[in-house]
This record gives sequence, structure tokens and C-alpha cells, in this order.
Amino acid sequence: MSDTVLCPKCQSEFTYEQDDMMVCSQCFNEWKPGETADEDKILDAHGHELQNGDSVVVIKDLPVRGAPKPVKAGTKVKNIRLRPGNDHNIDCKIDGFGSMALKSEFVKKA
Ligand SMILES: [Zn+2]
Repeated sequence: MSDTVLCPKCQSEFTYEQDDMMVCSQCFNEWKPGETADEDKILDAHGHELQNGDSVVVIKDLPVRGAPKPVKAGTKVKNIRLRPGNDHNIDCKIDGFGSMALKSEFVKKA
């Protein structure tokens, strides 16, 4: 599994750790990993708050880069991990696809 942390500002993956801060080498944004967890609630398509470990259902077909088929609407995803501040703010594993990042607006709480 990759530990790449995307810059919350410019979404660059060229980030590195410095002391307990993360630094973006593209826009020189600095932030503290996990610091935004409290203020950045992650809501599903219906505005329900999601938590780490929740199960969700994909509500529309989602094309997957590098995969021959999309993740189908109705696919159930277990044990999500939230990544506040990221564009794709849910980390998960989907059968047949492996590790994926999803947008919370395209799922609903199961
Ligand atoms: Zn950046």
C-alpha cells in the first residue's frame, strides 16, 4: 500500500515529511497530518457524516484509471478510511479493484 500523501492545497503527490509536518514541494504548503480531522467532516451524498470503518454504497458508476470497467453503482464498500482535506477523501478496498480512493459525494452510508 502506498503512503503517498497528497497536498491538500494543490493535490500534488510530491510531498515529504519534515519533523511532524508535511511539506509540499510544489506549492510549499505546510500542514499537520490529521490536524483537520475534526473540522473537516466528511459527508456522504445525503449529508450524513461518515466515520472510519463505516460501510458505504457507491451511488453511481465510477470510472477507474487503469481498470477495464467502472466500479458499479450499488457496490458495497466496507471499512472505509477517511482522508480529510483530500479531493478523493475516502480510502478503501474494493473487491476486484484493490485499494482505491473515492469521493464521499459519490457514496452513501450503508
Ligand atoms: Zn501543494
